[in-house]
Amino acid sequence: MPKLVYDFAEGGKDLNDLLGGKGANLAEMTGLGLPVPPGFTITTEACRAYLAARREPAGLQEAVSTRLAVLEGKAGRALGEPADPLLVSVRSGAKFSMPGMMDTVLNIGLNDVSLAGLAARTGEARFAWDSYRRLIQMFGKTVLGVAGERFEGALDKAKRHRGVAADTDLGVEELKVLVEEFKGIVLAQAGQPFPQDPRTQLDMAIRAVFDSWNGERARLYRRREQIPDGLGTAVNVMAMVFGNLGMDSGTGVAFTRDPGTGRAGVYGDYLRDAQGEDVVAGTRNTVPLQELERIDQRSYDHLLQIMRTLENHYRDLCDIEFTIERGKLWILQTRVGKRTAEAAFRIAVQLADEGLIGMAEAVGRVGGDQLGRLAFPRFEADPAARPITTGIAASPGAAVGRAVFDPRTAVERARGGERVVLVRRETNPDDLGGMIAAVGIVTSRGGKTSHAAVVARGMGTTCVCGAEELDVDTAGRRFTGPGGVVVAEGDVISVDGSSGAVYLGGLPVVPSPVARYFEGELDPRSPEAGELVAAVHRILSHADAVRRLEVRANADTPQDAARARRFGARGIGLCRTEHMFLGERRPHVERLVLADTDAEREAALEALLPLQRADFTAILAEMDGLPVTVRLLDPPLHEFLPDLTELSVRVALADARGEPVERDRRLLAAVRRLHEHNPMLGLRGVRLGLVIPGLFTMQVRALAEAAAQRARAGGDPRGQIMIPLVGAVRELEIVRADAERMLAEVAAETGVALDMPIGTMIELPRAALTAGRIARAAQFFSFGTNDLTQTTWGFSRDDVESAFFNVYLDKGVFGASPFETLDRDGVGRLIEMAAAEGRARRPDLELGVCGEHAGDPASVRYFHRVGLDYVSCSPFRVPIARLEAGRAAVQDTATLRMGDDTR
Ligand code: PEP
Ligand code: MG
Repeated sequence: MPKLVYDFAEGGKDLNDLLGGKGANLAEMTGLGLPVPPGFTITTEACRAYLAARREPAGLQEAVSTRLAVLEGKAGRALGEPADPLLVSVRSGAKFSMPGMMDTVLNIGLNDVSLAGLAARTGEARFAWDSYRRLIQMFGKTVLGVAGERFEGALDKAKRHRGVAADTDLGVEELKVLVEEFKGIVLAQAGQPFPQDPRTQLDMAIRAVFDSWNGERARLYRRREQIPDGLGTAVNVMAMVFGNLGMDSGTGVAFTRDPGTGRAGVYGDYLRDAQGEDVVAGTRNTVPLQELERIDQRSYDHLLQIMRTLENHYRDLCDIEFTIERGKLWILQTRVGKRTAEAAFRIAVQLADEGLIGMAEAVGRVGGDQLGRLAFPRFEADPAARPITTGIAASPGAAVGRAVFDPRTAVERARGGERVVLVRRETNPDDLGGMIAAVGIVTSRGGKTSHAAVVARGMGTTCVCGAEELDVDTAGRRFTGPGGVVVAEGDVISVDGSSGAVYLGGLPVVPSPVARYFEGELDPRSPEAGELVAAVHRILSHADAVRRLEVRANADTPQDAARARRFGARGIGLCRTEHMFLGERRPHVERLVLADTDAEREAALEALLPLQRADFTAILAEMDGLPVTVRLLDPPLHEFLPDLTELSVRVALADARGEPVERDRRLLAAVRRLHEHNPMLGLRGVRLGLVIPGLFTMQVRALAEAAAQRARAGGDPRGQIMIPLVGAVRELEIVRADAERMLAEVAAETGVALDMPIGTMIELPRAALTAGRIARAAQFFSFGTNDLTQTTWGFSRDDVESAFFNVYLDKGVFGASPFETLDRDGVGRLIEMAAAEGRARRPDLELGVCGEHAGDPASVRYFHRVGLDYVSCSPFRVPIARLEAGRAAVQDTATLRMGDDTR
């Protein structure tokens, strides 16, 4: 039979699977000789067995009896003994901390008789009655399921009756009445009397803690935090010590460093004459922990010494709950403390400087999400601020600006020096100018990989998308939110891209020094930079030194390329070219689509060539010496043409007025011809290259000429040609042959040798499944994980996230959107297969990722593990990917070392 109960003197912190975090740490502290009240822990295994069978596992009763006898021996008194009762607390404690999600019962062992014993021992009748009152209340609520308000109502009534504000002002007589009243509430509400037998109290409380694992609150919390449902909770039974025995007693919380800012020093709160729940309830004001020095110097010094011991032992920030009972300090709990992003960076580097950990471990202690949060400007915390609505937090940051509803107004107002927020139902490539001009973007439709979201993240613009409660009336230039709140053009709104909240009015914003450091505006060694920026710099430098995975950026303008370089990218892994066909170049695309003859088509392409060449020349210049992977045109051509409905209306109106509409009519025919029901699965990517003669070769020529020009000017251009949406090797072979011919042609014309790798995106399952064959014609693979996720799951990337992903997340189909964090089981399997087969065919095949996942922390670590060469993400996520690639490398060596140790 497995061991179901452990004495605190038996376990240790590495047993947290079995003892839960709290139990494991109590055992660890007991082992360290710290003043922990005696007790024992019932394992998570016992809980799992109980929940599975709906009854206590065989042997649990006996094991509890054995451990209880030991506890009674140590405490020198028996549970509930009438003359001098031992009282115990019963607390839950899962492997992962779930604050406030499960149950606790204090003062178990008190009854109508032992109450007098407690009063006699402590000499405090009021304290004894108050403890009994608390027991019946907590037991009634958490074990017997009586609504808490019943007790609180009675307590409030008693205080009103007595004319006092605090519980502590109730005297013995009032408490006696209250106890009787509480017992009556239990009997009436639970249909059974409050149990007088101490062991029955204990057993019922243990079962209640087991059951609380499946309480609604706990289940919700686990889903949100992605804690597996099958773990179960441990139960800690501990001898009670009392912080509410007068002014020489008290209770508090201590942190070995400030978990808010990371500043070293003593942090915490203390409350005299109180039990733990009084601190949490916030009904009485605590004093800063430093005050304890004045109140009780001996306990304070002892606590400080213990804090040092714990921090040296855990080699991390610890948070500690303690109680002082009549001048004697007891430690009730410790754990490695939660902290803000700022604190995480500062503390990791402080600990490295103090020699407690190495820099490699410091890198492992922080995360890309935290780094991302540090880089964006934030709204100053204001608990009073109420959002109009909360949508999907698509691109972090804090934007304040005037609402505008169309891109043209956005551009005009921005030119006039105004800060604007572009509010749309959804965005499309046409909106780009407005999106660039805006400081924030809000859409009422679309998910995290919708056009608005991808573009906003790429630009580092704050964006909330899928805010479905907003009724956006573009024509009326206003939107209506829940409760009828109307925001008209020009009204100021605040957009929090980190939480998804949209507020009416302007909230105060604080800029981020970390972002200024990334931009090269803040020298990390200067005094102005401060400890946080210095810490970020040191951790990133170490990550860069140890990582294997290279980081490139997705950038399609010289400005983005320059920023990517400042942020530490080593090249461009995806230069999308579609933006280069918009704006004033659109008429050329229209001519291309309308061309009836080869000559007309060639003329249109001829006009595009110099423009495209200039684009590439500027980008190659910014990325001199580093790879620039140019992806040939991907989206369906109708995205560059006028909207079908708009055009139909225009033609109909012009017809009615008798105006000449020949061109528009032809355009309309073309738009109708190109219209697709599933454009994402239609004429796009390599298919365009095969169907529209000369389009891809024009792009190749432009890149080749740009490279030749750069080379002649003394630069070091490193262009690469990438073909999108390939599904069959034949597609790639055809385009590749054309491209090679074109490269040879330009090389001959310019006299510059052009050695440009040609590769493909792997973004269709068929490409992954036939990767061995495709590698015949590709020098590199870049996994387009956006399309690969879309086509593997059959999820439209533009629609599903806001449509039904919350249901899928709730029902546990996946823990995170597969568009955000790579789905390893499905999409990952395809990637691993394609990587292996591609490399088997061509050992020097270069492997990268350029979908959104390349900037997602968990996915970056995965790409490291499966042996890819690089990730390519938006410039703003480059530092995040650098950090995560470093963390992955550090983890590898740590795991290796651990393997060595055990051998
Ligand atoms: C992808 O599909 O992952 C990709 C990078 O291409 P796009 O997002 O432009 O379709
Ligand atoms: Mg794609």
